[in-house]
Amino acid sequence: MLKVIKFGGTSLASAEQFRKVAAIVREDKSRRYVVASAPGKRFSSDTKVTDLLLSCYRLHRVRENFDEPFSCIRSRFEEICAELEIPFAFGEDFDRFYQEIKNGATEEYIASRGEHFNAKILAEFLQFPFLDTAEGIVFDENGVLMEEKTNENLALLLKNHTRAVLPGFYGATEKGEVRTFSRGGSDITGSLVARAAKADLYENWTDVSGLLMADPRIVSSPKAIECVTYRELRELSYMGANVLHEDAIFPVRREGIPINIRNTNDTAATGTMIVENAEKSAGIVTGIAGKKGFGAIYIEKGMMNRELGFGRRVLEVLENRKISFEHLPSGIDTMTVVLNRGDLVGHENELIRELQMAVQPDRIHLVENLCLIAVVGRGMINSPGTAARLFGALAKEKINIRMIDQGSSEMNIIVALEEQDYEKALKAIYAEFVPEEEN
Ligand code: ADP
Ligand code: ASP
Ligand code: MG
Repeated sequence: MLKVIKFGGTSLASAEQFRKVAAIVREDKSRRYVVASAPGKRFSSDTKVTDLLLSCYRLHRVRENFDEPFSCIRSRFEEICAELEIPFAFGEDFDRFYQEIKNGATEEYIASRGEHFNAKILAEFLQFPFLDTAEGIVFDENGVLMEEKTNENLALLLKNHTRAVLPGFYGATEKGEVRTFSRGGSDITGSLVARAAKADLYENWTDVSGLLMADPRIVSSPKAIECVTYRELRELSYMGANVLHEDAIFPVRREGIPINIRNTNDTAATGTMIVENAEKSAGIVTGIAGKKGFGAIYIEKGMMNRELGFGRRVLEVLENRKISFEHLPSGIDTMTVVLNRGDLVGHENELIRELQMAVQPDRIHLVENLCLIAVVGRGMINSPGTAARLFGALAKEKINIRMIDQGSSEMNIIVALEEQDYEKALKAIYAEFVPEEEN
């Protein structure tokens, strides 16, 4: 049995958390490869080390002094070492790092050092070797992960070590330039290491007892999901249930390695198992997730369905502007394109004009400030009336639905709502599908 085990930022935010992590690793001899994040928040108003590092970069870029965030970072690491009674052996590394920032080190290199130093401390504390993922995880010149090459390199790196600590979040190009994943990317590192090690299980330890049925910052004490399929999780994490980075699923899924999300602060909870196929489903709905920050373009034209190439011409306008769409529901004479608002800001009018030229619609208008909520569940296929319950729950709260999209897998229903209704809607949907006595 071999387990790859990843700890998130809150799990490694302080010496006290390091002790819990060490106990978890030592408790099970099969927990052999440990992936570490940078120190996260110790309390809600705290700042993550990665954010402090990014502040250093941004301040220096505008030629401002970055000593304050830099010394915060240094003292966080010093404090952890002092409390763990291990030597702070990176004094010189820190001095060098300070100079590197001064000399114009890249944003991604600077951001990566939180994981780098934290993993070194954890390796020292556990008495495991430290293996640098800059030597295993390969990015191309555009910062895109080269997955097969990474798999080969990581396998080679791990081959001579039965146990090791590896830093999450970053790798390097073939020229040796450090590159990072997007935020939360240590989850991807854990998944890549699990694949390369041919692990039996990828344990992802965080600060909640698994994937919860809804965002705990909005719904109070949502139920934990016992078992979720990769496909359900993909939908949920894409839509904002970001307890696990949305790209962390692919490497392990390919090898059929299950993921277990666990809570560092509650080791008795069994957490969530993420698997390829789950026979029994706990209920109709597995989880609910959502995101703000969308816009939609409504296009209306009589008989558009008969007009050959209509959809293609619409999408071509977007493609030329390098905008991808999120959803594309259509009616007989209508088509709606749901987009990320960030892609629209500043050129809304030009985009509308280009679409007018391309397809000469009868009407076209843009709606901004939308949110999307996805209701996901493998049990939905066999449960007629789920959509009616969803719409009923929203109607009861007088929430106006701007768009509905049911995925072809019949495993999810997505609604677009006004952004201001987001929290209220999420609570209403949760209450509809999770009866109070189950909580
Ligand atoms: P880590 O630092 O361990 O990687 P993250 O902060 O990335 O942890 O992810 C865990 C957090 O995700 C939780 O503390 C919780 O606030 C948030 N979260 C959002 N949606 C969900 C959900 N559906 N289930 C569990 N956690 C969620
Ligand atoms: N430390 C990085 C971040 O804050 C990566 C991670 O935690 O997974 O995004
Ligand atoms: Mg995370």
